[in-house]
Amino acid sequence: MFYLGIDFGTSGARAVVIDENQTIQAQSDYSFSNNDHQTQQWRKALFTLINDLPIALRENLLKIAINGTSSTVLLCDEIGTPLTEPLLYSYRTSQEIINRLTQIAPADHVVQSASSSFAKLLYWEQEGIISQAHYFLHQADWLAFLLHGQLGISDYHNALKLGYDVENLCYPPWLKQHPNFSILPQVFSPGTPIASITNEMAARFKITPQCQICTGTTDSIAAFIASGANQLGEAVTSIGSTLALKLLSSSPVQASEYGIYSHRFGNFWLTGGASNTGGQVLRQFFSDKQLKELSLKIDYTQPTNLDYYPLLEPGERFPINNPNQLPKLSPRPDDDFKFLQGLLESIARIETQGYEKLQELGATPLRKVYTAGGGAKNEVWQKIREQFLKVPVKPSPNTDAAYGTAILARSGLS
Ligand code: ADP
Repeated sequence: MFYLGIDFGTSGARAVVIDENQTIQAQSDYSFSNNDHQTQQWRKALFTLINDLPIALRENLLKIAINGTSSTVLLCDEIGTPLTEPLLYSYRTSQEIINRLTQIAPADHVVQSASSSFAKLLYWEQEGIISQAHYFLHQADWLAFLLHGQLGISDYHNALKLGYDVENLCYPPWLKQHPNFSILPQVFSPGTPIASITNEMAARFKITPQCQICTGTTDSIAAFIASGANQLGEAVTSIGSTLALKLLSSSPVQASEYGIYSHRFGNFWLTGGASNTGGQVLRQFFSDKQLKELSLKIDYTQPTNLDYYPLLEPGERFPINNPNQLPKLSPRPDDDFKFLQGLLESIARIETQGYEKLQELGATPLRKVYTAGGGAKNEVWQKIREQFLKVPVKPSPNTDAAYGTAILARSGLS
């Protein structure tokens, strides 16, 4: 039997089928062409991805789960037809909405952000369109509805930024009192089977009618699941343009001034934060080819002790909260490889301080770090980071969100 995970990311969508051993059996990709008619495009992507999979696998699919981008939301009527274009993860509401947020939700709550799902609900209230809506759904909820036909269902990863209380597994009183509370989805654990695929979809795609459609997750949590990290103290550092840390902890930690919050993760908590340092600063000075060549010249056993703070522009939130933090990139040694070593060491120091900050706030001590993103392939950096972090560091065997969502479909979260 097989399990299908589908990732809806920022530039395209992707499907991965795994077997009982989590071995990949098939995959398909779809690139979004433009930003018009988003929901039509999502529907087309979903159907094309499924159709591109081998029929022999489709006939034996046991479960399907879908992840979307966090805080990408839409309003639907009573039969699930979208009433507006969705508001994407990146959409930021106005200052007026931010002021409303502070009146309604507790200070320091994760919804207190211009792009949170709850801020988007307030935006639609302001626009007057909400009175026609029967359902407020996340991208992943709506896509799953296309397969199981159930409206008003979500998961606690997508619902975190809507204001769902993931500690007590209920909506909080301030949200229950909100005038449009009735259109919010019922929330389940990610990867919970909700219903069998509809007869129409089963016939259309030759999928077994017994196939269960599960609740989904968000793209970044799906990528975390893909890494294989699943024990307390295991973490994934993503070194792409910026530096993002995620650590599995026995208790939740939150510190909004540092942008730190926690997702529920079965019986554990997935906590983390994001720094403005990262690969984009390296790219300011070196091409990827130069990064590769210069790294080979670095002797990681001889630290430079150059104490940089690599940033593109002033301002940092995590691990230090200082909107005026200046980039520090001098003194620059004559040798380019030494300069690069200083940059790599400094980013490793910031990563270490990030994990220290999480632990200071009560997170489980760090035991092992997987690495994702463009920086993961640099072996010298891995050695440097091991010296700073004092735990084993290795590349994530897989960073594909669709693969993580296929694992979620197979195993759930607990
Ligand atoms: P994103 O998706 O966040 O834009 P990627 O995960 O694609 O980023 O990673 C791109 C980053 O990886 C670039 O900013 C680049 O500086 C960094 N990078 C690429 N190759 C190397 C390397 N060999 N060593 C260190 N960093 C690298």
